[in-house]
Amino acid sequence: MSHQRYEMVVGLEVHVQLKTRTKAFCGCSADFGAAPNVNTCPVCLALPGALPMLNRHAVELATRAALGLGCSVHTLSIFARKNYFYPDLPKGYQISQFDQPLATGGSVVIGKTENGSDIKVGITRVHMEEDAGKSIHDRYPGASAIDLNRSGVPLIEIVSEPDIRSAAGAGAYLRTLKQILQYLDVSDVSMEEGSLRVDANISVRPPGQEKLGTKTEVKNMNSFSGVEKALESEFKRQCALLDSGQRVQQQTLLWDGTRGTVRPSRTKEGSHDYRYFPEPDLLPLMLDATWIHEARGNLPELPDARKKRFVEAYGVSPTEVEQLTAAPELAEYFEGVARASGDGKAAYNWVMGEVMAALRGSGVDIGRFKVRPADLAQLLKLVREGTISNTAAKRVFAGMAETGKPAPQIAAEEGLLQVGDEAAIATWVDEVLDEHPEEARRYLAGEKKLQGVLVGFVMKKSKGRADPKRVNQLLSSRGG
Ligand SMILES: [Zn+2]
Repeated sequence: MSHQRYEMVVGLEVHVQLKTRTKAFCGCSADFGAAPNVNTCPVCLALPGALPMLNRHAVELATRAALGLGCSVHTLSIFARKNYFYPDLPKGYQISQFDQPLATGGSVVIGKTENGSDIKVGITRVHMEEDAGKSIHDRYPGASAIDLNRSGVPLIEIVSEPDIRSAAGAGAYLRTLKQILQYLDVSDVSMEEGSLRVDANISVRPPGQEKLGTKTEVKNMNSFSGVEKALESEFKRQCALLDSGQRVQQQTLLWDGTRGTVRPSRTKEGSHDYRYFPEPDLLPLMLDATWIHEARGNLPELPDARKKRFVEAYGVSPTEVEQLTAAPELAEYFEGVARASGDGKAAYNWVMGEVMAALRGSGVDIGRFKVRPADLAQLLKLVREGTISNTAAKRVFAGMAETGKPAPQIAAEEGLLQVGDEAAIATWVDEVLDEHPEEARRYLAGEKKLQGVLVGFVMKKSKGRADPKRVNQLLSSRGG
């Protein structure tokens, strides 16, 4: 394959919508999904004379995100106008940050090399900006429409160093980044709803060459796997160009997911084309060093730290911990169960087994799931104490998920409490021996291995309520 003679070099620009109630520079709602142009005002419609006012919460979230990505947050940053014409940009410029961004110099660990050292992707910068509106091309025959609800919604742009060397690496970076932002609780990070968007810069060069090749920018990818496919496709295209003696032209390309190819959009503007200059309607953004320091101290526990702690505290394996910490809500749920039940392994088995199955089956998210961690922990305790059997526990759990009632109540109502009472168990054993004379004869004649079969019959007869330990004891005392 010719393209193995080249190395892929990728840097990603990720736009993330911050989870604020209102927009970046006005009081309009930043909610997704409202009727077109409902969430607008003179500021975000760019009516003459309207002035922007910075949303403090957006700054807090942007700062938290930057700190969580290991960046230095600067006490002084400058909002700048990025000038360009587009129908969904009524001001004719976007408020962004240019030469003095909010934060610089972070990194993200995306995996381990074969010898166990971290694979890191550098974060060049995190800056604040506003979103543009949305052009709608397919709803009205022969016309395009514009929805300005998104105009002025606060974003951060996270720009990576060109440290990524494969499509899979880009996928790993994006998944890691998304997970960190979820733990930081700064964004919904949903590609479907447009609160996370990715542009990729890609070039190729012979391995070992320092100088970067000419890059193209690939846009319009709407899933992480779409990013990976687009990068593979563009990598092959660039390799083929070089192999045939042609040059890669610097340009912007749009990924066509259905065809699996890229197509040219427009020639890439150099940054001078945007004629950036400081936004005269906004003061420089000054952050108190103490405030930044406190924000760093208030960061929530991040995925890597949580994984390490879970392995140590709850005895789960490295593979299990990856599943448990995939999303912060799941990790918190698991920890609630593990802590209250005192049994990390059982908590893992139940959360990844029954709980996940119930969530998938009902489409409910874990935050609204009726069985709260303390309730599940109580069920696990009932099993451990022998009050109900493992089989009965699954039925109790189904009842809990449906009604939200506590485990002991359901177990009692459904008659699932384990019966340890000798007389009751003796009756079931007698009945089973009567009903299965052949097995009974052979067992009593010394065929010990039939004990398991007979215990099974007793469990079935008792509908799972007999305490298997007592059944075994009783059978042993009778036979063999
Ligand atoms: Zn507005």
